[in-house]
Amino acid sequence: MSGKRRGFPLELEKVGTPASRAPSAAREPLRPQRLLHQAALDASRLATPSGLGLDSAHVRQRMIDRLRAEGLRGEAVFDAMGRVPRHHFVDTALANQAYEDTSLPIGHGQTISKPSVVARMIGLLYEGTNARRDGHLGRTLEIGTGCGYQTALLACMARHVVSIERLRPLFDKARINLAPWRLDQVRLVHGDGMLGHAPRAPYDSLIAAAGGDDLPAAWLDQLAVGGRLIAPMQSAGGGQVLVVVDRSAAGWTRSQHEGVHFVPLKSGVV
Ligand code: SAH
Repeated sequence: MSGKRRGFPLELEKVGTPASRAPSAAREPLRPQRLLHQAALDASRLATPSGLGLDSAHVRQRMIDRLRAEGLRGEAVFDAMGRVPRHHFVDTALANQAYEDTSLPIGHGQTISKPSVVARMIGLLYEGTNARRDGHLGRTLEIGTGCGYQTALLACMARHVVSIERLRPLFDKARINLAPWRLDQVRLVHGDGMLGHAPRAPYDSLIAAAGGDDLPAAWLDQLAVGGRLIAPMQSAGGGQVLVVVDRSAAGWTRSQHEGVHFVPLKSGVV
C-alpha cells in the first residue's frame, strides 16, 4: 500500500462546483477541458440517485464484509474498495445493484467484473515479488479499462497506472467517470492492449480484464523482473481460468488458478 491517499476520501457530493465558482459564459471563455469536467460532474450526479444512500461508506463496508466472509483476503484492496464508489461507474438504472457481488453491463457488450473477482485478482497481483517488497503494485498496466472502476482501485494501490481500452466509447466513458478525481498517476490509452504499452514498460504488475487463447508476447516482454501478471485465459480443458505469470532473472513461471468468465480479448481498436 503506498502511504499516500490519492483523491478517494472525497465524497461524491463534495465534487460539485460551488455556486460561487459556477461557470459563467459571460465571464469565462468556453474551453474543451471545462466541458469534459462539467460532463464528469453531471455524470456523477446522475449516478447518485437521491434516497438510495449509496454515498454512504457503510454500503461499501457491507460489501467488503461480505467479501471477507466469503474468505477473500487483502487489506489494501479492501481499503481501496471502501474509498471508490462503484455506483458512480455504472448506469443510473443499475446503481442500486452496484454493491452486490455481481457483474453488470457497461454497454457495447462489455461488463464490469464482480467485486469478488476484482478483489481476488488484485489480491494475487499483490503477492508478486516486487509488490511484496515495495508494499504497493508499483508501475502497473491494466488491459481493458471498461468503465474505469478497477482503474480507480489500482490508482489507490500503485505508483503509476497505464490503462488501455480498445473501444472508443468506453475509453471516453472511463475518462469522464474518472475525471472528478484528477488522478495524476493514471494514464488512459485508447489502443490495442494486446501490444501492451512499451513507452512505460517494464511493469511490476499487469492485469487483464479480457481473456484470449494465450498470453500476448508483449505482456511477457514488458513485465519487469520481479513483476507479476494476472489474466484470464482459455485452458487446455476448454474453460477460461486465471493465469499468473511471475518473471524472475531466470525467466517466466506460469501457474493456473480457478475458472472465471471474462469477455474475449480482441485485437485492433474500434
Ligand atoms: N475492469 C473493467 C472491465 C471491463 S470488461 C471495468 O472495471 O469496467 C473488459 C474490457 O476489455 C472491455 O471494455 C473490452 O473492450 C476490453 N478489451 C478487450 N480486448 C482488448 C484489447 N485488446 N485491448 C484493450 N482493451 C480490450
